[in-house]
Amino acid sequence: MIALMKRILNVAGGYKGRIQLAFLFSFLKSLLAKAPIGMAFLVLTAFLDGSADGRLCLTMGAAMAICLVLQVLCQHAADRLQSAAGFMVFAEKRMELGAHLRKLPMGYFTEGNIGKISSVLSTDMVFIEENCMTALADMMSYIFAEAIMLAFLFAVHPWLGLAGCALMLLVLAIAKGMRREGLEDSDIRQAQSENLTEAVLDFAEGIGIIKTYNLLGEKSAELTENFRESRKTSIDFEENHAPWQRRLNLVFGLGVAVVVALTLFLRGRGLLDSSLAVGVMLFVFDLFGPMKALYGQSSRLTVMNSCMDRIEEVFAEAELSDKGTAHIPARSGGPEVEFRNVSFSYGEKETLHDISFRLEKNQMAALVGPSGGGKSTIASLLARFWDVKSGQVLVRGVDIRTVPLSELMDHISMVFQRVYLFQDTIYNNISMGRPDASREEVIEAARKARCHDFIMSLPDGYDTVVGEGGESLSGGEKQRISIARCILKDAPIVILDEATASVDADNESYIQQAISELCKGKTLLVIAHRLNTIRNADQIFVVAEGQIVQRGVHEALMQEEGIYRKFVSVRENSQGWNSRSA
Ligand code: ADP
Repeated sequence: MIALMKRILNVAGGYKGRIQLAFLFSFLKSLLAKAPIGMAFLVLTAFLDGSADGRLCLTMGAAMAICLVLQVLCQHAADRLQSAAGFMVFAEKRMELGAHLRKLPMGYFTEGNIGKISSVLSTDMVFIEENCMTALADMMSYIFAEAIMLAFLFAVHPWLGLAGCALMLLVLAIAKGMRREGLEDSDIRQAQSENLTEAVLDFAEGIGIIKTYNLLGEKSAELTENFRESRKTSIDFEENHAPWQRRLNLVFGLGVAVVVALTLFLRGRGLLDSSLAVGVMLFVFDLFGPMKALYGQSSRLTVMNSCMDRIEEVFAEAELSDKGTAHIPARSGGPEVEFRNVSFSYGEKETLHDISFRLEKNQMAALVGPSGGGKSTIASLLARFWDVKSGQVLVRGVDIRTVPLSELMDHISMVFQRVYLFQDTIYNNISMGRPDASREEVIEAARKARCHDFIMSLPDGYDTVVGEGGESLSGGEKQRISIARCILKDAPIVILDEATASVDADNESYIQQAISELCKGKTLLVIAHRLNTIRNADQIFVVAEGQIVQRGVHEALMQEEGIYRKFVSVRENSQGWNSRSA
């Protein structure tokens, strides 16, 4: 528990001092809350030994009233200091997370990780934000109150103090077991919450496909199953927790009985004043109150702990170093792109082994080969979605890790199969390729990408809002807008992932024209699927099992016995290939 508190304080960063000050007020509040019992005890003692008078009662009454007022003031100060702190701390944490995410390798943003990020932002951070500071304040005041109780027992009689300590140790031992089990359960619960977020995102994003393929029933059932699972995990969590809570309550009850018995025993032996014995009786039923309240919150604390684990996990993801200060020269005598003995792995298993190739300026290289062979990985290493494990990727002779990421990005355009348009005007979607471009340049790029005409036929032309809630465009139209964005950017190197998905014939030919415009005078690395593209490539790299197993031009490779010839003949015979290669 102390470790958790330390953890939370570490998260608090700049607000630590403020929270520590709040602890001080919590401590004073606890002291003031227990003071009236002490005063009542004094009055009672005075009554018993006959020294009580009206003045004493009045003084004590006034003191109690003052304690009450001060207690309220301390509570107010503690609340003010820490209640806003949670929101302030997490407003900053979210910004820190944003800054951290910006520096993570692009390759990190797989769908699974996006689910994790949204769950951290929407579940974990919100839970801690809402619970963390109030929980801290409560915990502190409970711990202080319990310490005051124990100190009182020691003051009354050392045996009572020792008995109190022994009971406290027993409580801590049970609480340790409860916490261990609780941690396991809450990890399961949070993992389930992550699955649920992913499933909901998946369902929402894929709703179009789900409806088209009439999978609504099936997918809804999957989602419902996820909700059921989530409900079960939450109930299991509470059910597993309950026996521990009962054990604790038993110890608390027994503890009270032990202290009462010991007090009576000491009184019987004449080792304790009757006034002190009465004083203990006044305290005893509240003796474990703070501990009870503290462990009553333990399920909240264990959930908080695993939320912290998951937040820290995202923060622990290694950032891509962007400290390079070298520059890509305007021109170089050597190749435009070079892979030099590049090896790479996503995890333990090596994905690319010793890849080397050179791509001269304005040449086109086609990456072909079986699915899962490593083509996309090669392309993502050039765009520095990941860093190589060994070897070098060079652009105009400069290792891309030594160049600022933004400068590398200025030199590379990427056309993916999956197009993302922002919920903004078409104009802004294109102009983000080069924000300082003039309106004429934006329109010129749209013309080259063969989208000017259809844009002009929309009600608001270039000012039409696309994306969620806006005008919906066909897949081919979206693709052409994204190509217009790249044309405007005019980067010298283009990475192109050729579409495998079918679009209608009109769109297909427009997209081809748009791509031809984009590629004019550029150095191209294409993940190629069309025979036409492959035939026109200056170099073909056949990638299989993470290696370049064949390289050359189409005619030469067709002469060789090997994977390429087989690959082409299978493709040529397939209808899809023929229709694409036309
Ligand atoms: P291709 O583009 O030729 O289909 P990829 O480069 O996508 O091949 O994949 C090469 C290998 O790397 C495959 O085994 C694939 O499962 C794995 N892989 C691809 N992306 C990731 C990723 N983000 N994390 C882990 N493994 C990946």
